[in-house]
Amino acid sequence: MPGRNSDISRRSFVQSAALPVVCAAGCWEAEGAAALPRREAQFYEKLPNQKIRCKLCPRGCVIDNRERGYCGVRENQNGTYYTLVHSRPCSVHIDPVEKKPLFHFYPGTLAFSLATAGCNVNCKFCQNWEISQVRPEQVRSADMSPDQVATLARDNQCASIAYTYSEPVVFYEYVYDTAIAGRALGIKSVVISNGYIQQEPLSRLCSQVDGIKVDLKAFSEKFYREVVNGELKPVLESLVTIHRLKTWLEIVYLVIPTLNDSDQEFRSLCQWISRELGSDVPIHFTRFHPEYLLKNLPPTPLTTLERAKRIADAEGLNYAYIGNVPGHPAENTYCPRCKEIVIQRTGFTIEKMNLKKGACAKCGTAIAGRWKS
Ligand code: SF4
Repeated sequence: MPGRNSDISRRSFVQSAALPVVCAAGCWEAEGAAALPRREAQFYEKLPNQKIRCKLCPRGCVIDNRERGYCGVRENQNGTYYTLVHSRPCSVHIDPVEKKPLFHFYPGTLAFSLATAGCNVNCKFCQNWEISQVRPEQVRSADMSPDQVATLARDNQCASIAYTYSEPVVFYEYVYDTAIAGRALGIKSVVISNGYIQQEPLSRLCSQVDGIKVDLKAFSEKFYREVVNGELKPVLESLVTIHRLKTWLEIVYLVIPTLNDSDQEFRSLCQWISRELGSDVPIHFTRFHPEYLLKNLPPTPLTTLERAKRIADAEGLNYAYIGNVPGHPAENTYCPRCKEIVIQRTGFTIEKMNLKKGACAKCGTAIAGRWKS
């Protein structure tokens, strides 16, 4: 997952971090189960007989003493619930924010990106299953406090910290504390999530972070049940909440041949976005590549992605993109009024900006997003 400047960042990361688990080559030492830290979890209730109910994500696991929830990174120890991944990232890189992808959030800046082990769903197409579908003792990790993350982000000229690669919902407390540490140094936070989270933790999270990108995996409960092992409804509720609380929101829809690529599904999705979120929330239709448990399907044909974009345009969405197709014209941002290119991109690189104070340089129409002043 290394991004632009990854060599520089890794070198400066190793030099400045001086963490005992980082070896000279920049790789990390494995920690045994006994070395896992623990920090009390924020959202759970105690039940009789030392059981607990987790109230972080809609799965609502009920967990016996000495057991873990579905995500494998939270453990009941004598009736108290602990996160085992606070300050234990297993993946750290510096990426362009466009790689998240976030196209309307301080374009051209860098995001200090990290993940811990664990996820609260199991997508058959997961690209990062080696860290998302494992327990914390099965991956190498570093010891990196929220303050250290914020300092490293600042020292590496990152405008934001991105919680990404696996599922930030399951390392919620680490995200929350790091976002606070980042804000104290003037660094923003963006969460790259599946949106499968309960409303109370989500609302609290929105008060501390600046942007959220939600991977909307499909627009049908059947797909969520059979391919994701999750549910669509709570994700739609999350989208509405994020938008209502005015945290910057972008949506990614990975288009998988035969599974979520019908005209009807694209149209229903776009109509729902237009009705519930308005026409200014960006949507990225991204190309699927065979991965993990879906190696039997081909990559998404370009014509399918273009069909999805045409439907989004016809439904009045102002910012519909095609992703994972570098050089395609639908990577650019166009002014919804005069249709001039306001941000020209190739892949994750910004080629040209025609924005003035967040507005089209030609006709002055405001472009939705978060921009440098
Ligand atoms: S966050 Fe983990 S433990 Fe909590 S309900 Fe979700 S899957 Fe279960």
